[in-house]
Amino acid sequence: MLYTDTRDKNAAVSLEEAVMSGMNEKTGGLYVPVQIPVLSEEFRTASAEPSFRNIAYEMASLYTDGDVERSALEKIIQEAYPFMPKLTQLNPDTFCLELFHGPTCAFKDFGARFMARLMEYFNKKNYKPLNILVATSGDTGSAVGSAFSGLEGLTVSILYPKGKISPLQEKQLSTFTGNVRSFRVDGTFDDCQALVKKAFTDVELRSKLRLSSANSINISRLLPQSFYYMYSSLVAKSRFGKNAPIIMSVPSGNFGNLMSGFIARKMGAPIRGFVIATNANRTVPDWISTGKYTPRKSVPTLANAMDVGNPSNFERMSDMYSLEEVRDFAASYWISDEGILRAIRECYERTGYIIDPHGACAYKAWSDLIGGGMKKLLKGEKRRAEEEGLSGNIPEWGKEAAEKKCVGIVLETAHPAKFESVVKEALSTAAPMPERLLEVMTKKEHVTDIPNDYSAFKELLFSTLS
Ligand SMILES: *Cc1c(COP(=O)(O)O)cnc(C)c1O
Repeated sequence: MLYTDTRDKNAAVSLEEAVMSGMNEKTGGLYVPVQIPVLSEEFRTASAEPSFRNIAYEMASLYTDGDVERSALEKIIQEAYPFMPKLTQLNPDTFCLELFHGPTCAFKDFGARFMARLMEYFNKKNYKPLNILVATSGDTGSAVGSAFSGLEGLTVSILYPKGKISPLQEKQLSTFTGNVRSFRVDGTFDDCQALVKKAFTDVELRSKLRLSSANSINISRLLPQSFYYMYSSLVAKSRFGKNAPIIMSVPSGNFGNLMSGFIARKMGAPIRGFVIATNANRTVPDWISTGKYTPRKSVPTLANAMDVGNPSNFERMSDMYSLEEVRDFAASYWISDEGILRAIRECYERTGYIIDPHGACAYKAWSDLIGGGMKKLLKGEKRRAEEEGLSGNIPEWGKEAAEKKCVGIVLETAHPAKFESVVKEALSTAAPMPERLLEVMTKKEHVTDIPNDYSAFKELLFSTLS
């Protein structure tokens, strides 16, 4: 399979180049597959509830054909996914897709673990290590650190801002050993990101060290996320009946997760449409409402892993689809912080399920849509983009959803115990801590404090990496 780029359709690179370089440095564009392959009808209908790893292997083999040997791919899938996504039913028209059963309790484990093993495979030909630099304000750093931990020929350097993340997040980021190390920067997340960006453009540094990034623009993080869309839509279809349209409600920040859903749909997943759910960072819902894409500064919210004002994957979305097409198969919705707290409460009261602040955005979007929101739009009620709630477009499945003929799958992207203080603010109860989070709290920290100063950071890279 070849990969082209969002800015230059003449570009055609191998999977290896797309994965190892992350983005096309010449054009600044993002890699996309030349064409999206379809998973055979035969495979999709062979078993009522196919296994997650079988689906992952079949889908991945379409993208890695000619680039990764079959036996190696099988090993990559087995080792990346000792855990599974889990579909639970909340009420007659809503499923919750739990994506937090991986080691760091967030959905980013699905993408990061596949990417790490693919990079390890491609890097075997090199005698020099590949050094991943990642700036993080939370989930990305821990998923990437955990995914690369112990892999051969790869190192990870994590930069995070001092005093700006929760104690649990800090434990998750600072207790790695071996090939993963962390740096606590006396500055903000933006400062961390600026240090990393500067390192990537530093000619002297790059002449001595092989550097790469691991953020969600890398195509090898997006493709594996499509596995759980295929899996959950096939399982929901078999449990709910063949004809109910399936709508996926996706809490979105950088829009990597949503793009993976779009890819799965093109690959033949029985997904009729999507609900795009954001917090107050409503750049994309505004685009759907007004037709204008206006990137802005991010604002802090209670669903902080989605605090993105200029989503990096928007470029892929607008490359794959026109605005009209997106309006036709996706509804969109944004929600304020008070709305998030209300949503956590409502979900618990109505279903007994404790949902995290990110999943809460998607839950509320879906329950409002079928609970009267879409009906109002169909009656001709106008909505303003500044009002929280649904955007004004009516997708082609809108009428069926208003008549409660659809099944919604709400993506739960993190374990609620990771966001204990928000959940406690909304409910008088908290979610029980999973064993693996309790364990990380007892680990010893190995972290180097660094000033917000590029030359000091560069010195450190020279002295710790090869
Ligand atoms: C990263 C993250 C998101 C947003 O995912 P995108 O792919 O950036 O849209 C949502 N929820 C959680 C818990 C996350 O960590």
